[in-house]
Amino acid sequence: MLATRNAGKLREVRAALGDLPVEVLSQDEAGIDAEVIEDGQTYAENALKKAETICRASGVPALADDSGVEVDALPGELGVHSARFGGEGLDDGGRNRLLIERLEGVAEDKRGGRYVCVLAFCRPGEEPVFFEGELPGRVLDAPRGEGGFGYDPLFYLPDQNCTAAELDLETKNRISHRGRALAAFRRWLAGELKA
Ligand code: IMP
Repeated sequence: MLATRNAGKLREVRAALGDLPVEVLSQDEAGIDAEVIEDGQTYAENALKKAETICRASGVPALADDSGVEVDALPGELGVHSARFGGEGLDDGGRNRLLIERLEGVAEDKRGGRYVCVLAFCRPGEEPVFFEGELPGRVLDAPRGEGGFGYDPLFYLPDQNCTAAELDLETKNRISHRGRALAAFRRWLAGELKA
C-alpha cells in the first residue's frame, strides 16, 4: 500500500513496479484515513512515520516517501522543510520568489543543490528498509518552464541542459530523485519476490 494522497506519486509507483507480481493500492483506494504529521528531522524519519502508520492501519506492507531540495548556500533551510520554506502562507510561486531573493548575488558556482528522496518500506513484523535517490542541479535566478511542480522551474539540470520544469514527465520520472529511489526499491523487491 502506498502511503500518499498524491495521484501523481501513485501513478509513478505503479509504473515503476508494473512488471512485478504485486498490486499497488493507495491509502485512499483502501479507505484508510490516517493523517501523519511530518515533523521528523530527516527524510527517513518522516517516510518511516508514514509507512509505519499505514502498515499498522492496513495490516499489509506499506511504502512511503519523503523528499526535499537541498540548497548548498542555505544549509538547513530547505531539505526536510522544503514544503514549508518561508512559512505556511506561501505557495510554490511564493517559495520560488523567496528562494530567488535569498540567493540574490550568489555566484553561479555557489548555487548548487540536489533533490533528495527517501523511501521507507514497512512489513508487519519485520524491520523497515530504506532506499534513497538524488538528483543534483543548480538554482537559477529566474524561473524557466511550465512542467513539474514545486522548485522545478528554478532547478537547472546541467546534464539535461534545462530545468526540471522543462523536462517531459517520462524523462523526469526516470532520472529524478524519486525515480532513482523507486528503481532501487524495485530491484530489491524483485529479489525478495524471487527468494
Ligand atoms: P513531500 O516529499 O511530498 O513532502 O515534498 C517535499 C517538498 O519538496 C515539496 O513540497 C517540494 O517543495 C519539494 N520537492 C520534492 N520533490 C520535488 C520535485 O521533484 N520537484 C520540485 N520540488 C520538489
